[in-house]
Amino acid sequence: MSQMSVLIDFGYIAASILFILGIKMLSKADTARRGNMVSAIGMLIAVLITLLSGGMSYQWIMVGLIIGSLIGVVSARIVKMTSMPEMVALFNGFGGIASLLVGWAEFNSNPGLPLFTAIAVFFAVLIGGVAFSGSMIAFAKLAEIMDGKPILYKGQQIVNSLLILGLLAAGTLWAMDPTGANGYLLFMGVMVLSLLLGVLGVIPIGGGDMPVVISLLNSYSGLAACAAGFIILNNVLIVSGALVGASGIILTNIMCKAMNRSLANVLFSGFGAVTTSSAVSGGPQGEAKSVSPEDAYYILEAAASVAIVPGYGMAVAQAQHAVRELGELLEKNGAEVRYVVHPVAGRMPGHMNVLLAEANVPYDQLAEMDSVNPIMTTVDVCLVIGANDVVNPDARENESSPIYGMPIINVDYARTCIVMKRSLNVGFAGIQNPLFFKENTRMLFGDAKASLQSLVAEFKES
Ligand code: NDP
Repeated sequence: MSQMSVLIDFGYIAASILFILGIKMLSKADTARRGNMVSAIGMLIAVLITLLSGGMSYQWIMVGLIIGSLIGVVSARIVKMTSMPEMVALFNGFGGIASLLVGWAEFNSNPGLPLFTAIAVFFAVLIGGVAFSGSMIAFAKLAEIMDGKPILYKGQQIVNSLLILGLLAAGTLWAMDPTGANGYLLFMGVMVLSLLLGVLGVIPIGGGDMPVVISLLNSYSGLAACAAGFIILNNVLIVSGALVGASGIILTNIMCKAMNRSLANVLFSGFGAVTTSSAVSGGPQGEAKSVSPEDAYYILEAAASVAIVPGYGMAVAQAQHAVRELGELLEKNGAEVRYVVHPVAGRMPGHMNVLLAEANVPYDQLAEMDSVNPIMTTVDVCLVIGANDVVNPDARENESSPIYGMPIINVDYARTCIVMKRSLNVGFAGIQNPLFFKENTRMLFGDAKASLQSLVAEFKES
């Protein structure tokens, strides 16, 4: 073994260790930033070592590096925080298409592939293709270019099953004889069917199930990269792909638990399809009692305990700093303040935690839904800031609701619930929320940031 290959192996081991340490640090809010940096250093080492290993056309690498860096830097600067989930979906998709292209390039440059490499190429193209086109649909749904509701048709599962069978058959025939008379046709068939499977697999998934889809596609992009690692025999790509694949599966499992649903149920049940009139968006269910910021201030001023429940609307309004300011004023006023974050609040896993951390909300004030729900009846005021689906009592009470069974934060059990949003409009799942019409609910209509600033002003003036 030459000295160079020993150096490369050591570099890859060091990078892999840094990835694992980085992921470990990401699991706690106070070490997450450093974890990100540690993983980034690992990636830098992996890239430098790969470039050092030679045997590649550096001019093309430079072209890719410049275009990729430009897109990365520009998008990181101009994309709004509220569009991060769409960005995550796009990045998953880019990971998938990169692996598909590695497979395609390998087939083009070396058609007489040995069986092992042919199998790796098949998986890179299959999983990469599904991750790419599925992520594009997820992106379109999150960016509201496409309706978020599931697209269902008769015989859908049969069509998808036939597609999978066709893919496996074409892939097996191709891998057994890549240079055969139909080799090119079969390979192209695998590629087209994989892309089609991604589209047809994600369109029936709608409503609140997108968190599961995003984390699953993230896992797929990792598995596709792992397969690409086997094609080009690059150890660090195999390890990092496997890490992304495994952590994506763990995240998928956490998201499924947060929604109280099995993965099979998420993928095949067409969840979020509105089936009953009570679940249809719009249609008031009584009278909502609206309050002014001044009234809301009097309620909050008298509260000894306040639970703050953020949702997607807080991200839209960029209200996290105003939330923290109000939290501090409530504490000064003698109230016990907790921030209760639902695992699927917002539009990406950890969305609310990222925003609250950015606003320097103390970690020890963050509480788990499961620890606050049992004591919710003792909470004086629940302040719901731009959350909707994750506080919808129908999930608990209405068997005909599309989100029935999803655990929610029981904000309606608090003595008073103040909901901040602009209207009675529905949330991501597209269903009406009876919380707004409950006896103990008060609606503070308006942009969440403006409402919070009015409340902060009331506290400061008093
Ligand atoms: P929702 O999408 O249910 O509701 C958000 C609410 O915010 C809307 O009803 C909207 O009402 C309000 N809003 C929007 N802009 C503002 C503003 N400027 N000021 C005040 N309010 C505003 O959010 P939740 O967080 O409760 O639930 C998340 C949903 O998204 C779930 O269905 C979840 O499954 C899904 N999802 C989650 C993902 C994740 O990974 N976390 C990924 C993809 C989907 P109005 O227009 O009246 O103001």
